[in-house]
Order: sequence, then structure tokens, then C-alpha cells
Amino acid sequence: MEGKIELVSLGDLIDRDRLASFSKYLSYCVLILNICIILGFLGLAIFTQEKLILNNLVRIAFGLAIVGVFSFFFSSKINKAEPKSNLLLQSSFILAYFFILLELTGSTQSFLFPIIYLILIISAFYSLLISTVLLSITAGYFFYSELYFKSQTIQEFFVLNGASLLAIASVTAFSLYLGYMYRKNWMEKIKLEKYTKNVSADKSKDEAIFSNIGDGIYAVNTMRELILFNPQAEKITGWKAKDTMGLPCKKIMNLKNEQSVSICEKDCPALAVWNTGENVVRDDMCYPGKGKTDIKLEGTYAPIKDMDGKVTGAICVFRDITKKKEVERMRSEFVSTASHELRTPITAMSGYIELALNDKVCKVDSKASEYLNKAFQTASAMSELIKNLLVVTKIEDRKLEYTVTNFSLKDLSEEVIDVFNKKATENGVELKYDSSPHLKVKGTVVSRSLDVRADREQIREVLNNLVENAIKFTTEGSVTISIEYDEDFAKVCVADTGVGISETGQKHLFEKFYQVDNSATRAVGGTGLGLYITRSIIEYFGGSIWVESEEGKGSSFFFTIPRALG
Ligand code: ADP
Repeated sequence: MEGKIELVSLGDLIDRDRLASFSKYLSYCVLILNICIILGFLGLAIFTQEKLILNNLVRIAFGLAIVGVFSFFFSSKINKAEPKSNLLLQSSFILAYFFILLELTGSTQSFLFPIIYLILIISAFYSLLISTVLLSITAGYFFYSELYFKSQTIQEFFVLNGASLLAIASVTAFSLYLGYMYRKNWMEKIKLEKYTKNVSADKSKDEAIFSNIGDGIYAVNTMRELILFNPQAEKITGWKAKDTMGLPCKKIMNLKNEQSVSICEKDCPALAVWNTGENVVRDDMCYPGKGKTDIKLEGTYAPIKDMDGKVTGAICVFRDITKKKEVERMRSEFVSTASHELRTPITAMSGYIELALNDKVCKVDSKASEYLNKAFQTASAMSELIKNLLVVTKIEDRKLEYTVTNFSLKDLSEEVIDVFNKKATENGVELKYDSSPHLKVKGTVVSRSLDVRADREQIREVLNNLVENAIKFTTEGSVTISIEYDEDFAKVCVADTGVGISETGQKHLFEKFYQVDNSATRAVGGTGLGLYITRSIIEYFGGSIWVESEEGKGSSFFFTIPRALG
């Protein structure tokens, strides 16, 4: 609202300022004209012999001097406040002088002339050029035809009527100029008003969005001083927007990470936004609540750019996620406690079943042995599920323990192959390592295997899961591990010649608890958590994972891992 009022008055101001300077300039012109006319009358008075005429001339000069002084004084007073009125005043003075001159030179007796002349200056004012020219000719003709016969020669005509002609010409020119200036100002004012309306409409819209949005918003300039603080931000932080403007952001927001270390210096998200030019999302921020416990915040930072694309600040949209974090903490605590509690009885159950199945410990008939075997398998599956649930909780809580080292993927793959070889042979599948592609970087053969950088044990889990799945879903043929390298990444492929995966299955494969609905899956069972964990681990170390598959022909799982530097 405020913006709108300011801008409209700015438009007015420009209009008024131009008019004021124009009418001031006009006042000086009128003053000079006035002085000239007074001097003219006084000059005539010196040369005249007749006392009556002399008296009259001096009286007129004196009268004009008083009116002139008064007009100039008055015009300078009203000019600033009422430039339009001053214009009117000065214009009427010019007209008045003109008619006085006309009368004094005894120029025209016809009442038609002033009418033609008035129409002339009006059409000049409106820049009706053709009619101005035509009317000038008519006025000129009138003037000339009335007065020429009174003068003996054309020179005498100009001597007698020079002042009048000059006055006619200058008033017409002045009217033209005045009209032109006035319309120019008017057009500019209309344009400004239109622009003002648009700007204020945009501003009101932005203000409405910022005020009514459910999230807190603050923005900083490149000096990291606050330039925006919306009502929701006031609510979350307890600060009033007006008290925060222009203050350093760290004084007001003073955000910390989950380890209670300030992020305002080295880890500042606004700096990260400027350095990378990309949005930064953080859900690990804490705001030190006044007297209360810390408020957990989640925020998205984006750069503010000017029209040339230059970064002029950063804006953050944030929300209070204290409750959400608390619920998450309770959930993971519950899963972890429940899993630990379940583990013990299941381990005991498996142990007793194993004892019951042991010939040396007790004797069971074949039917009972079959049932006990099924019970043992179910207990093992439950134990696997619990183990996976614990891993998932750790991943989601970012509590996965890892040690990043440089290691050879080739060596690790060979270790995994050794572990699964027996199982593969039992299933009638050949498990092998394809050594051909792993020594190439961008098609160039290199003499050694290249190291990658990640947690070796976590990547072992990934390979275990992919190889185990491949063996599970392949009844004949082979399972092959191969590795390729490019400048930055190693790309591992675990390819099988098994049942393959449908297109829908491929889309959802890496989701939590997803299992492809087919007879093969039903036969082998599982938890549907393996690939979800696999994807989480790979992404955790900066890689990506995907699948290419054709039903009935087999599947190839690919994942990338960053190569070790140097
Ligand atoms: P699970 O832990 O139950 O094996 P995963 O997340 O590892 O679950 O796999 C999810 C589903 O993806 C499986 O149920 C299976 O249907 C499908 N799948 C995984 N790997 C393969 C493969 N190599 N060939 C065919 N289907 C596969």
C-alpha cells in the first residue's frame, strides 16, 4: 500500500517539477518582456513633443512597472505550489501585453482579429499544425489588409507594426511549445501511473504471499544482512521483522547443526548458495529458542538474482520440524528397541530348532523334521527382516557407521564371488568375474585396477545383495560381475540370465518393501528391503544405481562409486 502511495506521488512530483521549472522560466521571460516594454515606452516618451502623450506614456510605463514587479514577486511565491496557476498567470500577462501593443500601435479595429488570434493560439497549443499554419496566414492577412493601407510603404508597415508582429509570432510559438510540453508531461504521467499500478499490484501480491505463507521466510543481501522477515518467521523466532532489518543474519538466526555447532561461519547455507549457484536444502538446523529448547528447522536456500543474473542475495524458506523430528526419533527408537527385543527370542528359537533337528541330540520322525525345517527357515527369515529393519532405521537416521577408505573393487568382487560360489553351483548357475572391461578408462587400456573411495564393508553389502538376488532369480546360465571406469566413477555391473523384471517392477524396485509380484519371488520369499538398502548405501557414498532388464532374458544391475583421487 505504502509503495503505491509513494510511487503515485513520485509521478506527480516529476510532472509538477517540470511544470514548475518551465513556469519559472516563463516568469523570467515575462519579466524581461515587461522591462523591454517599459523601456520602450520611456524611450518613446523622451522623443515625443506632445505633453499629453508624454504624460500617458510615462503613466503606462509606471503602471506596467508596478504590475510587473507584483507579477514577478507573486509568481515566484506560487510557482512551487501551483505551477499550473503560475503558467496561467504568465500566459495571461503575455496576452495582455500583446493586446496593449496591438491597441497602442492602433493596429486593428476589427473584433474578428482577437477571435482568430485566440483560435490560433489554441490550435497551436494542441499542436494542430495545419490549422495553426492556416490560422497564422489568416491572422497575418487580416493584420496586413487592415493596416497596410494606413502605411505608405511596406517598410513603414513593419516599423509601425513590428512589435505587434513579434508579439503575435512569439505568443503563437510559446503556445506551441507550452502545448507540446504539457502533453509530454501528461503522457509521461500516464505511463508512470500505469507502471506504478503494475508495480504496486506486483508488490501487494508478493507481500500477500510472503505474509500468508505457512513457512517462515527470510532473505539476506550479499553482506548477509537481513532484508526480509515474514510474519511466520517472526512467530518461529520470536523476533519482530522491523527489529531485524539490516542486522547481520547470524545475530538473529544464529543457526546450529545437530551437533550444536554454529553453521553461520564456514557452513553458512547462503554462502553455499552463492558459491554453487544452486539451491541448498538442509534439515539439520537448530534455532536456539529463547529460554526454551532448540527449535529444529528444515530450510531451502535459493539465490536472489538481479535482471543481469548477478546474485544479490539469498532467500530461505524454513519450517519448524521439532515435532516431526521427535516423532521420527520415537519411531526409530521403537523399531530399534523392538528389533533388539525380538532378536533374542528368535535366536533362541532357531537354536532350539537346530538342536531338535540334530540326530545326536534327539530323534524326530521325518514329518516332524520337515516341519522343524520350515520353522527354522521362517525364524531365519524373521531374523533377516529384523536385521534389515535395523539397517533401514540407521540409514534414515543418518546413523550408519562407516569408514571411508580407498580400495580395489576388483579384489572385493572376487571375495564376494568366493563366498557365493558354492550357492551358485548348487543352483546350477555359473558365477564369474569378467576381467575384460575393468582395465579400460574411456576406452584406453590401463595396466592396473583402479581404487574407489567408500566404506568397503558397506559396498560388500551392496555386492552381496545384488549377487544373492541374481543367483536367487536365475535357474540356468550365469551371473557375471564386471567393472568399467571413467574419469570420476567406477561402474559395476551384476548381470544374470535369470527371470528378468517387468517394466512396472523396474520402476518400483528400489522402493521400501517392494517385491515384484511373480511366481519366482513367491518361491524364494524375501523382505523387499534389500534393494532399498542397497540404493541408500550407494547414494550415501555419492553414486547412483539402476537396472536394465527383460522378462525371461535376465537383468543387469548397475551402480557407480566415486573413484579415489590421484
Ligand atoms: P528381497 O530382500 O526380498 O530380495 P530386494 O529389494 O532385494 O528384496 O528385491 C526386491 C524384488 O526385486 C525381489 O522381490 C525380486 O522380485 C526383484 N529382483 C531383485 N533382483 C532381481 C533379479 N536379479 N532378477 C529378478 N528379479 C529380481
